[in-house]
Amino acid sequence: MSEANPSATPTAIHFVSLGCPKNTVDTERMAGLARRQGLRFSPAAAEAEVIVINTCGFIEAARQESIETIVELAQHKHEGRCRLLLVAGCLAQRYPEELARELPEVDAFVGTADLGRLAAILEQRDLRVAERSAVGPAEGLAEADYARELCGPAHSAYLKISEGCNRPCAFCAIPLMRGRQRSRSVASLVAEAETLVARGARELILVAQDSTAYGRDLPRGEADLLQLLAALDGVAGLHWLRVHYAYPSLVTTALAEQMARLPRVVHYLDLPIQHVDDEVLRRMRRGYGAVQVRQALAALRAAMPAVAIRSTLLVGHPGETDEAHRRLCEFVSEAEIDHLGAFVFSPEEGTSAATQGDAVPAELAAERRDELMALQRTISRRRLQRLRGQVLEVMIDGVSEESELLLTGRHAGQSPGIDGAVILADASGAPGTLVRARVEGTSDYDLVARAV
Ligand code: SF4
Repeated sequence: MSEANPSATPTAIHFVSLGCPKNTVDTERMAGLARRQGLRFSPAAAEAEVIVINTCGFIEAARQESIETIVELAQHKHEGRCRLLLVAGCLAQRYPEELARELPEVDAFVGTADLGRLAAILEQRDLRVAERSAVGPAEGLAEADYARELCGPAHSAYLKISEGCNRPCAFCAIPLMRGRQRSRSVASLVAEAETLVARGARELILVAQDSTAYGRDLPRGEADLLQLLAALDGVAGLHWLRVHYAYPSLVTTALAEQMARLPRVVHYLDLPIQHVDDEVLRRMRRGYGAVQVRQALAALRAAMPAVAIRSTLLVGHPGETDEAHRRLCEFVSEAEIDHLGAFVFSPEEGTSAATQGDAVPAELAAERRDELMALQRTISRRRLQRLRGQVLEVMIDGVSEESELLLTGRHAGQSPGIDGAVILADASGAPGTLVRARVEGTSDYDLVARAV
């Protein structure tokens, strides 16, 4: 690109990252690539000559947000300085031709495993129209790409341990967009973790479509999540290692005990259970039932009595009867999960759930979601109240939005951006510093604590 712009000022590029943390990592890789090619980042889209939108295609609402963002930023090709508008990520992978037809302002679409093509596009001056929708297959692996430009703060970073997913969940189109599972090697993940720690990371959050399936695609016995955790636990300078997206039937006593044993692994697990009604789970093709969900929770709580669990539920899946919903509500009341989100089912093209009968009306599904979230609000408030008076280890994230005199942070049971925070009084330290603080107040989702 620098060749394409021989003037003294390097070409300005602006990134927009939509969707989940796995997409964030991809955006960070793309930004790292742009940096290596000599581009500079522009926080304002209006100032940028190149705009990259990394899209999400998870559900209808996410697709809609992606399209709206593209349409909005496409204005900069008419009114701003933009001369290259690129659309990357899940939506580009799934619908390149349709998008190319509908969105003429977009110069090229880049797939989920297309870093090499992005590099070529950024180097190119003139894009031929025929290449616009030529996204590559969702294959291959970025094993040694450590030059990520982090989107978030340096002290807390994601580490993507595998790409793709081999599961057949009936409602999910992700395998169609991200391909088969490809696990990275332990050695490359440890090397990336060390690089991130050297650049200031104190917390690493392992992400994948299914982190508990890590290594299953590698030659037999080469690695699994237990081994990976042990290897990453040895990275000097790291305070917290957090695991997201575990699959309930793969949460074993051995995994829970390994998490309990390793000092840097926090007692926290993001465990999307989706449902607990056996018939709904069968129709979802999750391969487990209510018994396995309860076993997973019991194994975690036996090994780590104070473990914090985050989960997600999918409501309104075809075949979810009133009775099935009631069972789910009873489970939520009884299981007392710390952090819970609920999504309304959306029929995704190409998935088997989209063609199953017994659809639940959208309005009813939304009511069910609201009922579950109201239930969870009470549970969250009650669980946080139990922490009053306790002294917790809190990682400082920065200055609180509420007051410059307060800091904000998280205890080990809170993942950034999704689980609430700890408002800290009388504390000082740079982001990533650990302090001890006594809980003095609670709200529905947050804690107030004073440094001790
Ligand atoms: S585990 Fe199921 S829901 Fe999760 S990404 Fe894979 S197919 Fe989708």
